[in-house]
Amino acid sequence: MERSELNIRRNRELLLAVLDRRGLLDAKPEALAALREASWGRTDLGAGVFYYPRSFFAAGNLRFLLAGTGGPDAPDAYPNERDGKRLLVLSREEISRDFEGERFSASGWKVLEGPRSWNNYLAIKEHLPFLAPASLRGERTTIGCGDRLGMAGPGHIRAARGFRVSPVLAQLSMRELKLTGRTYPRVVKDAAFAALQEGFDRGYGADGDHLKNIPDIDTALDAGMPMITLDLTEVMDPAPASWTDAAVEESFARLAEPVRRRTLDDYAGRTFSLGGASIAVPDIEAKRCALMYWKALEFTGEVDRHLRSRRGDAYDLEVSIDETTAPTVPAHHLFIASELARRGVTVNSLAPRFIGEFQKGIDYIGNPGEFEKQFAVHCAIAKAYGGYKISIHSGSDKFSVYPAIGRLTDLRVHVKTAGTSWLEAVRAASLQDPGLFRDLLAKAYEYFPEALKLYHITPDLARIPDPEGVADEDLPSYLGLPESRQLLHVSYGGLLNDPATGPRLFRFLADREELHYGCVGDHIRAHILRLGAPAHGR
Ligand code: ZN
Repeated sequence: MERSELNIRRNRELLLAVLDRRGLLDAKPEALAALREASWGRTDLGAGVFYYPRSFFAAGNLRFLLAGTGGPDAPDAYPNERDGKRLLVLSREEISRDFEGERFSASGWKVLEGPRSWNNYLAIKEHLPFLAPASLRGERTTIGCGDRLGMAGPGHIRAARGFRVSPVLAQLSMRELKLTGRTYPRVVKDAAFAALQEGFDRGYGADGDHLKNIPDIDTALDAGMPMITLDLTEVMDPAPASWTDAAVEESFARLAEPVRRRTLDDYAGRTFSLGGASIAVPDIEAKRCALMYWKALEFTGEVDRHLRSRRGDAYDLEVSIDETTAPTVPAHHLFIASELARRGVTVNSLAPRFIGEFQKGIDYIGNPGEFEKQFAVHCAIAKAYGGYKISIHSGSDKFSVYPAIGRLTDLRVHVKTAGTSWLEAVRAASLQDPGLFRDLLAKAYEYFPEALKLYHITPDLARIPDPEGVADEDLPSYLGLPESRQLLHVSYGGLLNDPATGPRLFRFLADREELHYGCVGDHIRAHILRLGAPAHGR
């Protein structure tokens, strides 16, 4: 037997012996729950052997945990899987062939040690159903925690766990999938294994973000994602927003008769009183809405029927019009909400484009007073037409407006974040690997022009200090400066795929996972606190 094989066998025996000595293998589910409650992070046993006490679950005659026994990573492992972590399944009886991996016996147990793969995710969720993403339609406050690296999940869970907030852990757009080289099944199983690692059994969501057509929606549904964010930017027509009245009249006259009749009868020249808000829809604005949104509304109805046919009632449809050119004024939001209700669309959340600027990874740009006034009207519309959640896109780092958002929605809200967690990974590097951080920053300038084609941001890069003159201990200050935040924020695709920076960053984060989880957790926790969400009482 080869030396390394012998070592792995010894390591496996060591792990099993420790689990046995600690009484885990025969523990009742209640005892395991108490153990999870009292545990934190990973327990290292030396010689590269470790396990996560919070990941220990029992179901029927099976035991599950995440652990490492010192074996090498699979040659085809994704960068975020190169951390030695494996799924262990233990039983006194034969373990189902649904699980894939190496099988052996130790301490009187049959053991399977396998990768955190899609197949093993499918197999384990049959026994631990909370590991599969669920519809969060019934949850009051939800937070989207996009994880581009597939390594930040435990940080997200630690932040959400303390509050009455449900996390949407698996959330990626097509743009992000392409830039990171991941797929929806990978995104979902990475979230599921993060939930296992943290022993998080409260349920989490999964969001196929900014999808624009049925084939893309199907790839998310096939991966079991219950939330679909339908991006209407390509089916709506933003142009009439800036047309003259005469041009609007002329085009409106060419719409089908039933569309014209409904627009004129139900909206044109009417004033709607909703809660405390009064929303006037001038004749010309009603016509403009019909021109801008009718086709998109019909498509939304089609998507809603599709989701229902695939998932019954267990889906969360988010309607997104945030990536358009003009802010969604209240009259337009009202038209959209009312028409979605008439089509019987089950809207879980809707993302308008707000006044001012919601740029990625930095605070709100605009007049907070004006924002608050208009935001209150958006909330009144959502309440009047089905009580859906207002969704805040590019929702990270808007610290100056969160208190108003929390208060005016009464915490019935979805806040979507993504890139800000990537920035926390970069922050971790700035704290403990100055050389890596400097390389990331230097390379970000190279990838920035390409990234600008995909992201709307407007930083003045000249304001970023030359790193030559910045001491290592001051490098984290780059994560405090809006301009360098945005530079690093949008360049992730290039940085992750660059052989000089990507593998090093993944390696660093795997080696310093507690630092990484701490940065991510603290940052997301700051968002939740600022929103005003109450603590999660046990
Ligand atoms: Zn968005």
